[in-house]
Amino acid sequence: MSNESPLKIIISGAKGRMGQAVKECAEADPENFEVAAGIDVGEKLEDVIAQADAVIDFSAPEALHTTVRLCVENGKRLVVGTTGHDEKQLKAARSGANNIGIVMAPNFSVGVNTLFWMTQKAAEILGEDYDLEVIEMHHHHKKDAPSGTARRLGEILAKARGLDYDTQTAHGREGLIGARPKDEIGMHSLRGGDVVGDHTVIYATNGERVELSHKASSRDAFAKGALRAAQWLGDRPNGLYDMQDVLGLR
Ligand code: NAP
Repeated sequence: MSNESPLKIIISGAKGRMGQAVKECAEADPENFEVAAGIDVGEKLEDVIAQADAVIDFSAPEALHTTVRLCVENGKRLVVGTTGHDEKQLKAARSGANNIGIVMAPNFSVGVNTLFWMTQKAAEILGEDYDLEVIEMHHHHKKDAPSGTARRLGEILAKARGLDYDTQTAHGREGLIGARPKDEIGMHSLRGGDVVGDHTVIYATNGERVELSHKASSRDAFAKGALRAAQWLGDRPNGLYDMQDVLGLR
């Protein structure tokens, strides 16, 4: 990847775990990236946004509305890595994407995006005889559950099997709940220690089961993917994209 001049980025959530990883990865690749500024809680994006070509957001869901508005007003591309947005916040991104290019992905790693692709293929091949379960584990600081990546895996499974993610997902199980319905996706969130991000999709039937797993051991995979997405947006029409678009997996 080489540009005439490095892509100037602003990191929102700059003091956080992902913000730091993006900064380090960008600084390790000065030919392609320059960190123009970083903002965190209490600092204003409007004070620095003019300095950059792109904003990379790994902050908190409630920041999205303002971040999208400022990127639209200033004509900047936007990469959103933050997860856990509600429908109203997502609507802001969808409407902002009429005016700028936005890449929004629950997981920017190439490995996880390959897992997304394989999850769909396996669901299509294995069909209705297989019970579908998703397990994720993250560090004890993580605020949202299930992870955005696990949710996306659940949505992929639901679509492939003609199920409704919102109403046909069981988030954990407890008590005398009876036999497992066929038309259900099980979703289980584990939290502990410093786990960067593990995801497993299980397809279980009588006599066999298939497990697809991804384990992240460093945040660099997400950070490098987010930087790649910011660069990829450069020559794209306005719109809302995800990492499957960036990697050409669609
Ligand atoms: P983190 O360590 O808590 O970092 C978030 C940072 O953003 C903190 O410094 C936080 O400050 C700050 N912040 C909060 N509200 C803000 C606002 N309105 N404006 C600017 N900064 C704000 O969390 P993390 O582990 O880096 O994760 C950040 C987000 O990225 C989470 O939603 C996580 O799920 C997601 N994530 C996505 C990917 C991906 O590939 N898409 C990968 C990993 C993580 P305070 O601590 O003071 O609140």
